Amino acid sequence: LLAINEEFYSIQGEGLHTGIPMYFVRLQGCAVGCYFCDTKYTWRPEDQTTKEGDIINRALNSKADWICLTGGEPLEQDVSQLTQMAKDHGLFIHIETSGAYYQDNIKFDYLCLSPKDLFSKKKALPIMKEHAAEIKVVVTKMSDLDYYLREYYPFCEDHSIPLVIQFVDNNFTLLNKTMEVTQGMKFVRIMMQQHKVMQLR
Ligand code: SF4
Repeated sequence: LLAINEEFYSIQGEGLHTGIPMYFVRLQGCAVGCYFCDTKYTWRPEDQTTKEGDIINRALNSKADWICLTGGEPLEQDVSQLTQMAKDHGLFIHIETSGAYYQDNIKFDYLCLSPKDLFSKKKALPIMKEHAAEIKVVVTKMSDLDYYLREYYPFCEDHSIPLVIQFVDNNFTLLNKTMEVTQGMKFVRIMMQQHKVMQLR
């Protein structure tokens, strides 16, 4: 059983998977506590009452190829059964996580690591970088970018994975400076949160 905040079909709005139709499963609970969080309604923990099999049935009914586990922080709960069932039914699994928690028994096809090191005591665990298909960071001011380029970009370069840069609240006031600073960095991608532009969930 899992505590779920909401489930819905939509289009992925962030990162390299932007544009892919997915069945979103927003898990309840997040102790990371970022000040800019746009899903604060997920923070409080709740009883685990939703059956994994019911979630999978609804995902299959949505006709999406991908199921996206997001939150809240999806890895605060044990999602091993859900991910195994998703695999058994041929769904591709995308996980969006802060990286503050590690589960070694889950299945996934794509893990987006979105570290919140600068905004929380719950920093991304080093092991989570090893599992990331992309690292996606939120820039609120130029010193944030300096930190990400120092702490994460060398890893991205070494492992040929993108460092996706987004600006808090899609505020592009730092865009020109970011382009200047990252010029020549082949693994940097600069993006907006497309679902907010399209006014989707
Ligand atoms: S990790 Fe994500 S869900 Fe949790 S507080 Fe930060 S932005 Fe919100």
